[in-house]
Amino acid sequence: MPIDYSKWVKGRVVARRDWTDDLFSLQVDAPEVKFTPGQFGRLALPIDDQMVGRPYSFVNSPAEPTPHEFYVVRVDVGPLSPRLARLEAGDTVYLAPRANGFFCLGEVPPGETLWGLSTGTALGPFMSFLRTPEPWSRFKNIVFVHACRLERELSYQDVIQGIKAAHPDQFQYIPFVSREDTAYAIKGRIPDAISDGRLEARAGLRLDAATAQCMLCGNPDMVTDTTLVLEARGLKKNKRKEPGQITVETYW
Ligand SMILES: Cc1cc2nc3c(=O)[nH]c(=O)nc-3n(C[C@H](O)[C@H](O)[C@H](O)COP(=O)(O)OP(=O)(O)OC[C@H]3O[C@@H](n4cnc5c(N)ncnc54)[C@H](O)[C@@H]3O)c2cc1C
Repeated sequence: MPIDYSKWVKGRVVARRDWTDDLFSLQVDAPEVKFTPGQFGRLALPIDDQMVGRPYSFVNSPAEPTPHEFYVVRVDVGPLSPRLARLEAGDTVYLAPRANGFFCLGEVPPGETLWGLSTGTALGPFMSFLRTPEPWSRFKNIVFVHACRLERELSYQDVIQGIKAAHPDQFQYIPFVSREDTAYAIKGRIPDAISDGRLEARAGLRLDAATAQCMLCGNPDMVTDTTLVLEARGLKKNKRKEPGQITVETYW
C-alpha cells in the first residue's frame, strides 16, 4: 500500500546540534503541531514504502513554540533513529499532527518538592516544563536529576544553567554519572542513591510521602527500580482516580 502522506505533517529540519557521536538534537519547523509541556510527538520517515514513526518528547517550551526541538539517541539496532541521525538542515521529517502523553504537570498532585528523575534523552520533557511558569508557582523546591553513563552525555548544560539563574533558590540540578568518576556528579544509579540517602544528602531535602512529588522518565530499569525504592518509603503510584506521588513515563 502506498504511504498516505495526508496523515502526517511535513516538518523541515532547521538545525541540528550534536552532543556526542550518538546524541543529537533536531530543531524541526512544524508550527501546526501543538503540545502541552511533557508530551511527546511522533517523528517519522518513509522507510521501504512504509512510514516508520516513533514517539519523541518535545524539549522546547510553549514559550518558544517553533521550531520544535527533539533530543535523540541513535539506537543502532533500530530502524528510525539511525536515519534521524543523518538528517541535516533543510531535510524533511514527518510528524504526527497531534501530541500525546500524560507526563505533564497538570497530572501531578500538589506537593512541597518536585523531584524530576531522568535518564539519557528523557531530560527532554523536564527541559520543556521547567521553562514554563507553572512548576515555580506550585512547588517550593524543584530538584532535577539527570543520570547518564558518561559525563559528556550530560547535555543541555546551557538550558539547565539558565533555569538555575532564573530560580537560584528554588532549583537544584543533580547529575549522576555511572561509568566514570567526575568532580561534581553522583557516581552510580538513582535508585541506589535514594536507598542509601546520598540523593537526599546532596539536595538537603527529605524525599518522603508527605512532601514529595516524583516524576520518573526514561530507562525502564531506572523507572522500575526507583518506583520500588519509593514505594518502600510509602510513596504511591499516581493514578487519576487514586492520586499518588510517583508519575512515570518509560521510553522503551
Ligand atoms: C513516550 C516516549 C517518549 C520517547 N521520547 C524519546 C526522546 O525524547 N528521545 C529519544 O531518543 N527516544 C525517545 N523515545 C524512544 C524512541 O521512541 C525510539 O524508541 C528510539 O529512538 C529508537 O527508535 P528506533 O526506531 O531506532 O528503534 P526501536 O525499534 O524503537 O527500538 C529498538 C530497541 O532499542 C531500545 N531503545 C529504544 N529507545 C531507546 C533509548 N532511548 N535508549 C536506549 N535504548 C533504546 C529498545 O530496547 C528497543 O527495543 C521515546 C519513547 C516513548 C515511548
